[in-house]
Amino acid sequence: TSKIKLGIVGYGNLGKGAVKAIKATEDMELMAVFTRRDPETLELDDPSVKAVHIDNASEYQNDIDVMVLCGGSATDLPEQTPHFASMFNTVDSYDTHAKIPEFYQSVNEAAAKHDTTAIISVGWDPGLFSLNRVIAEAILPNGENYSFWGKGLSQGHSDAVRRVEGVKSGVQYTIPSEDAIKKVRSGANPELTKSDKHRRVCYIVAEDGADKATIEETIKTMPNYFADYETEVNFISEDELARDHSKAPHGGFVIRGGKTGERNDQLYEFSLTLDSNPEFTASVLVAYARAAHLMNQEKQFGAKTVYDVAPGYISPRSAEELRRDYL
Ligand code: NAP
Repeated sequence: TSKIKLGIVGYGNLGKGAVKAIKATEDMELMAVFTRRDPETLELDDPSVKAVHIDNASEYQNDIDVMVLCGGSATDLPEQTPHFASMFNTVDSYDTHAKIPEFYQSVNEAAAKHDTTAIISVGWDPGLFSLNRVIAEAILPNGENYSFWGKGLSQGHSDAVRRVEGVKSGVQYTIPSEDAIKKVRSGANPELTKSDKHRRVCYIVAEDGADKATIEETIKTMPNYFADYETEVNFISEDELARDHSKAPHGGFVIRGGKTGERNDQLYEFSLTLDSNPEFTASVLVAYARAAHLMNQEKQFGAKTVYDVAPGYISPRSAEELRRDYL
């Protein structure tokens, strides 16, 4: 049987991860990476990968089964997903939770009109965490859901500390509170505020001669970002930053404590510990690209979410094989 042919739109962290994720499969192949930049200027880790300008993507409609959309959620995907869903089957990792309903509408309109299948908001959150929140609640209606994120490098908070005067460079990790997780796992279903659930740890490289006490104070009192949280500020050298903080780790937990019958506590927990957030997210996208292709062949057109995709569709194995070896 022939391989599923994929394209990648956008060559940032996720796009680079998608190249590696496709290579790790046996049933899919990468046809081209599409970019808004001059394709000649892309520094591709793999010279066999073909780079093409995004304006020429429409010429590939007969050669590509699914486009893996790797643009940013803030401004790229609201434009790119409906645009590409009118020409290709797509998967994306749109993660602005509050705007998912309107995003769904606009993608669904384009996909339904052009008989394509567009799986939106795939990744780990939204994505695998979303699935687990729903499964846990359906099974344990009498209970409470908790999502914790981290230990993770937060792009937004890292940008915020880098804007503080006297800061040369730095990163911020969001860390789930051990205490809060322990309470949740005990089945107590506690009421927790955002700041009860997470703390923030910064690693800062200060400019020569900068006042570290002032930097620390400015960070810890920064409204919205840090003021409401327990925040730790560590000063390190530029070498230490490069050596110890150049990965993009993330992960977290979905936990539901519930009760069944009169007195039995039941705990549902799903967790991820990731060395590289973009490489993992891209791997989820590529697995769901398989589903987009199969569902389209079955004429399941329109926008879909992880809730609409049966697990068998994301696996390269046949239904028979899954029943025999995994059930
Ligand atoms: P990114 O590196 O900023 O890339 C976004 C886009 O910016 C790329 O598609 C690329 O488009 C352009 N770009 C990248 N590097 C560039 C450079 N050096 N110069 C100019 N343009 C550049 O973002 P990302 O880390 O891949 O993340 C993409 C999105 O994934 C995020 O916005 C987030 O919403 C989502 N995400 C979701 C999950 C989840 O669990 N659902 C998890 C992680 C991330 P062109 O090639 O067209 O220029």
